[in-house]
Amino acid sequence: MEKQMVGELNPTPRILMGPGPSNVHYRVLRAMSTPLVGHLDPEFLSFMDETCNMLRDLFQTKNRLTIPVSGTGSAGMETAFVNFIEPGDTVIIGVNGLFGERMSDVADRCGAKVIRVEEEWGRIIEPERMTQAIKRNPEAKICAIVHAETSTGAQQPLEEIGSFCKPREILFLVDTVTSLAGCEVKVDDWGIDICYSGTQKCLSVPPGLSPITISQKGMDVSHLRKKKVQSWYLDLTMIERYWNEERFYHHTAPISMLYGLREGLRIVFEEGLGARFQRHQALGDQLKMELEKLGYRLFAQEGYRLPMLNSVYLPKGVEDLSVRKRLLNEYNIEVGGGLGQVKGKIWRVGLMGETCRIQNIECLIGALKEILA
Ligand SMILES: *Cc1c(COP(=O)(O)O)cnc(C)c1O
Repeated sequence: MEKQMVGELNPTPRILMGPGPSNVHYRVLRAMSTPLVGHLDPEFLSFMDETCNMLRDLFQTKNRLTIPVSGTGSAGMETAFVNFIEPGDTVIIGVNGLFGERMSDVADRCGAKVIRVEEEWGRIIEPERMTQAIKRNPEAKICAIVHAETSTGAQQPLEEIGSFCKPREILFLVDTVTSLAGCEVKVDDWGIDICYSGTQKCLSVPPGLSPITISQKGMDVSHLRKKKVQSWYLDLTMIERYWNEERFYHHTAPISMLYGLREGLRIVFEEGLGARFQRHQALGDQLKMELEKLGYRLFAQEGYRLPMLNSVYLPKGVEDLSVRKRLLNEYNIEVGGGLGQVKGKIWRVGLMGETCRIQNIECLIGALKEILA
């Protein structure tokens, strides 16, 4: 019996206004479809160096160890914890949304004693609450927090916590998966020791890589480990040797993903960081205003609202699933629903990277006007 062939892949072009992935520039897709070279080919090695240099500029750091980890943002999160925690270590984690919760789970699985500093979803964690937790637990090895809580739309202030950690032994660990390339992330100025991100949000590159940067203080702490890192794949002491001059084989680099990241970074720097952050801020403000006019109320704490992830309560009478389904099926627009405790109550409207364009806002607002009429 002959088997029926599946059809050629032909996805519908969508406007990706959810919490990620975001729309990808055709230049990134084109770069990803160019011929493979070997992962130890001298040509590829220079692509790697160029990519790391651009990542340093993006993270605003001089950290030598600044590389893309193979895997999505969550692989970056895992890398950030497994390399530094040994069983019994104390870790202080800010938890005000799903990703703080995930950090806490990851640290717990590493055998850490986790001290949670909790706050209501949608609100930031007052920096003094983090610094007080450090004072009460002077043995803590890491203080971890999410910069842009994608589950709630809140933007966490970092500077005060960073300058508190800087003269102390504690390492400051920050998740910038959603913020990097959409608003300021100043790793060196803010005293961040361990910082990871993802390619699929404001970088507008498909999901699959997780840029990470580690300070010298962080490296020194990791070198004092008594035992090997429990994850073979994410062990930075080995991965580092591939990315530095040694070019030691650890795992095969995802070549095409790295092509995509390199092109995505080129696009970021052609626009310029300042202009890019300004675009996200201005269009984020505009989208919030337009949604409020339609009866949506803003969910995240005033004064701390992310530009690239706009969280809103649904107006009365607007049904979550059916309206999002119509947006997708009739208008090809994806918006995100609420997660966890705010499921069914809020939407998360992303304006990340390439998606952050006035015409996308106009499409969404026009579509909502038709649906809600
Ligand atoms: C999306 C996201 C992650 C996880 O990234 P994946 O690419 O889905 O693995 C982690 N932290 C935050 C804040 C995120 O928004």
